[in-house]
Amino acid sequence: MAYQHRFVDGEVVNLPVGKVVCVGRNYAAHARELGNPVPAEPVLFMKPATALVDLEAPLRLPTHGIELHHEVELAVLIGSRLSRAKKAETETAIAGYGVALDLTLRDVQARLKADGHSWELAKAFDGSCPLSPFACPKDVPDLGDCTLRLWVDGKLQQDGNTRDMIVKVPVLLAYISEFFTLEPGDVVLTGTPAGVGPLSGGEALVLGLGENLHFPACMATPKHQP
Ligand code: ZN
Repeated sequence: MAYQHRFVDGEVVNLPVGKVVCVGRNYAAHARELGNPVPAEPVLFMKPATALVDLEAPLRLPTHGIELHHEVELAVLIGSRLSRAKKAETETAIAGYGVALDLTLRDVQARLKADGHSWELAKAFDGSCPLSPFACPKDVPDLGDCTLRLWVDGKLQQDGNTRDMIVKVPVLLAYISEFFTLEPGDVVLTGTPAGVGPLSGGEALVLGLGENLHFPACMATPKHQP
């Protein structure tokens, strides 16, 4: 079934499915673990709507690379248009918060980076953005101090907190909207904390947002690619 935005109660969100705008290196500890400098300006890239898949279906392993990395990220669902917005205008434009995986073929990305090429083949392929259902903003009261976690086969692999974001959500949304109009149904991924690592077929994942929202997922086995 085609991906649709949903709320955590299962209700379909009455918004189209748009683009995904992502920020790289928004947590200093993650920039360091990959040997990258902490950027002076946010590093932006995009995934098309075709990258989005439901967390609940087994996640397909792409075949054009060998090292598929997980990056667990806070996802912001845009509910109303933001263009050259001021920071103060961004809060009312948010329709929900979820948690996403910015799946990255690290070997492909390393090759592209070395050649000075853009990252789409490593980060924007079909299925590269598994996304949870969304919680209403009122149910995520302290977005500035919210844990972001990923367990792989029961082991805590990423354990971050939004307070460590270099560029916070309102500033990030305003910055993005200077260049790319954010439309209702677009999603913004806000960067990954440290602890990224490889995924393999058959692994069971749990993505955690705050202390109360936990979303299970699983990697497809190579034999049973959906
Ligand atoms: Zn990322």
